[in-house]
Amino acid sequence: MGWQEDYAREKAEKAHFKEVFVPAVAAELNALGSFPGLVGADTDVEPWGGRIIDGDGRGYYLGYPFKGKTEITPIYPRSSFGWYKTDRGKIGVSVSRGPQAVAREIARRLAPVYEAALAKVLAYEADLAVDQGQRGVLTEKLAALFPDNCVSAPSHSQSEYSTQLVIHGPGSGGGWVQYSGGGGDVMIGANHGFRVPAGVATQMLAIYGDYVREETAARIARLGLEEITAPAGQFCDGVGGREHIGGKQAVRDGAGRVYCLAHLPGRYGEE
Ligand SMILES: [Zn+2]
Repeated sequence: MGWQEDYAREKAEKAHFKEVFVPAVAAELNALGSFPGLVGADTDVEPWGGRIIDGDGRGYYLGYPFKGKTEITPIYPRSSFGWYKTDRGKIGVSVSRGPQAVAREIARRLAPVYEAALAKVLAYEADLAVDQGQRGVLTEKLAALFPDNCVSAPSHSQSEYSTQLVIHGPGSGGGWVQYSGGGGDVMIGANHGFRVPAGVATQMLAIYGDYVREETAARIARLGLEEITAPAGQFCDGVGGREHIGGKQAVRDGAGRVYCLAHLPGRYGEE
């Protein structure tokens, strides 16, 4: 046979594996009930084999047979879980034994390893969610110490582990605040900042917040600005209309322009 026939035969074998064999294994696994929630095979474009996957991103990957064996590896939900010291699980089974035997081997040898590892991944994700919730509470508490809009959390500076806030002080004042995990410690300043417990940071920032409030109020008075609550749909004229400030505390100048409290008009100290 020429290479064209070899190629055509290999292509047909792969298609059969992905479109017939793997779905048959999925049906057998469902019948065994070893993997609740499994909805069947996914036969999407998959260069290395076929997938059996449920709606939550859990399942198995069956590689194209090599020397008669398919290598089966679990699929875990997308996570930043660190796999060091945790077995992901992997087995090889001869495809000549048929889909039922492959499913039984998965249930007997791979599913226990998979479920143990999956439990760790899910516990890790749950911890992350708790931490994120605690950081969210701290963020609200810190933001409340300052005038509206003077505390922002730039989206490119957030991660699933840590929160970074920018505090806009008067003029070029202000800086960054960062906390990670459950927000137990707060770093005031950037990389070489001041690390203190959250309660201490809250007190330190409360003092700074009072100063920012007083400076802001004094400057509004000096400039003769009208204090308002920005109407729905309002954008801040202090940053060229890029920032939405509807519903926030704001000021209006004599020409009707509206500014948030972090972007008051004029140059600080020169008004
Ligand atoms: Zn603004």
